Amino acid sequence: MELQELLNKESFTKEELIYLLNLKNEDQINLLFKKADEVRQKYCGNEVHLRGIIEISNYCEQNCIYCGLRLDNHYLKRYRMTPEEIVKTAKSITNEGIFTIVLQSGEDSFFDTEIISYIIYQIKQNVDVAITLSLGERNFDDYKTWKIAGADRYLLKHETANPRLYEAYHFKQKLAERLEHLEYLKSIGYQVGSGNLIGLPMQTVDDIADDILLCSKFDLDMAAFGPFIPSPHTPYHNKQSGDVLLTLKTIAVARLVLKNVHIPSTTALATLDKNGRKKGLMVGANVVMPDFTPIPYRENYLIYPEKAGLKDDPIVAKANLENLLNSIGRNISYKRGDSLKQKVIPS
Ligand code: SAH
Repeated sequence: MELQELLNKESFTKEELIYLLNLKNEDQINLLFKKADEVRQKYCGNEVHLRGIIEISNYCEQNCIYCGLRLDNHYLKRYRMTPEEIVKTAKSITNEGIFTIVLQSGEDSFFDTEIISYIIYQIKQNVDVAITLSLGERNFDDYKTWKIAGADRYLLKHETANPRLYEAYHFKQKLAERLEHLEYLKSIGYQVGSGNLIGLPMQTVDDIADDILLCSKFDLDMAAFGPFIPSPHTPYHNKQSGDVLLTLKTIAVARLVLKNVHIPSTTALATLDKNGRKKGLMVGANVVMPDFTPIPYRENYLIYPEKAGLKDDPIVAKANLENLLNSIGRNISYKRGDSLKQKVIPS
């Protein structure tokens, strides 16, 4: 089959995904990128959705082998924002016209049922803003309470769809459990985001194809594909970073497969390549997640080092992003940017 004919297909076999992810010829890769951009245009339009992220705590009770927040990283200076600081930061995000707030942290049970509910309630008091939680694997009852308190979305990356690799990276945790959490979150009406890490040790292109297929099977609302970046004081500190081109190909192939799903151009991609943000947006991505964590905390949210924009004032960063988007014929959305899928939400 001609490449163009393959790219025009509506659905793809795993072998076809592997073939596309393995493309080496520059002209062929450009054809893939062009098609992914067309599919993004068709399903998502020109708007780029911003999700203002607040990294509320870097305490973590898990030991993910690749992550700088892991429990055994005793070099990391730990912090927790207070509920008042979080609500105030949320206000500064909505003041910028950004109507999705992502509350992210390590798995930190200090932020319990009540505290998170209180924060959600306070943020939603006066403004119609979507709240995404990204707090790791928590109790099913908590997910439910937070949904009732007003949370709209949950972001929980599956990290890898290969169960053996999942166990190698996460020790106690199991892929099957992670997937149960995603299923449960969906069943109680959250808009759900998941995704993988690209370039973790031992991962193959075959695994990445499975990651994309898993996102398709779970009928996600958002899917994130970001490169792995080695983090100091973790067992993987001296491993290679994920490949930028492979990350871009993954975003492009994911767009062809997933179609009406939000896909971010990640900060990790922008960290590995100074034009990474723009490149991601040009090959299928339609979301950016600017960091609004106040400066003294932000530099300790060290999932990986030298994060792009670490020292940037979020308001200046947003203006720069606006310029970047203008230069590629795109514009910022000033709406909540909910799921692109029609949902029947269970009552
Ligand atoms: N604790 C929460 C969210 C915080 S971690 C959770 O488990 O969902 C957010 C994301 O950072 C993870 O899902 C992972 O994909 C990513 N991440 C962790 N370590 C990384 C690294 N070294 N390089 C790039 N991304 C990393």
